[in-house]
Amino acid sequence: MNPAVFWIYGLSGAGKTSIAQKVGERLRAHGQACLVLDGDDLRAGVCSDLGFSSKGRMENIRRAAQIARLACQQGLPVIAAFMTPEKAMRDAARSILQPLTFSEIFLNCDYQTCRQRDVKGLYARVAENQLTNFCGSDLGFDVPTAPDLTVDTRILTLQHSVQRVMEFVEMKMSLPTGSADGQKRSWSSTSLQA
Ligand code: ADP
Repeated sequence: MNPAVFWIYGLSGAGKTSIAQKVGERLRAHGQACLVLDGDDLRAGVCSDLGFSSKGRMENIRRAAQIARLACQQGLPVIAAFMTPEKAMRDAARSILQPLTFSEIFLNCDYQTCRQRDVKGLYARVAENQLTNFCGSDLGFDVPTAPDLTVDTRILTLQHSVQRVMEFVEMKMSLPTGSADGQKRSWSSTSLQA
């Protein structure tokens, strides 16, 4: 098993938390410990002193990447879920994590679709001018040109998105297919209850 860091990013509502949690659950269900690092969790504690300006977001990403590095260096794969709107932030994370295996997983979901989901009510607040520094609105989002994996969460179901990410994770970590639970079937075809 090759420990690695999987950096899942995209707009608010694109599906980062949902996918990261499901991937973490499925890894653990097969006996593979991992760390799920979620932006909302860090914002609630380790990064509660930071704002949402570009500078605050960069520091958020720096701390997250440092935590991911410590975990991965000790053999724990990391599934990170952070908006990471600027290319410079992704480059900073990649640089902190060198020479560990680092993969960018971009969740492609447009502003309108995310706004319709509005899981946290943030888009409604933006529409009422109650929220600034919001990615896709007054703060930009650099659409990546060459992520390691793109998952189109506009079109795919959550279940299929999790499947895509799981297949990629298995491949990158050289996980044995079927050996984790002693079954002949492949890892990713099991416990597909996304
Ligand atoms: P984020 O962490 O990116 O802000 P969340 O995971 O909190 O996003 O919310 C995404 C919402 O979109 C969830 O309610 C989820 O069920 C829904 N959703 C619909 N389709 C997908 C998909 N293909 N992948 C991930 N989430 C999806």
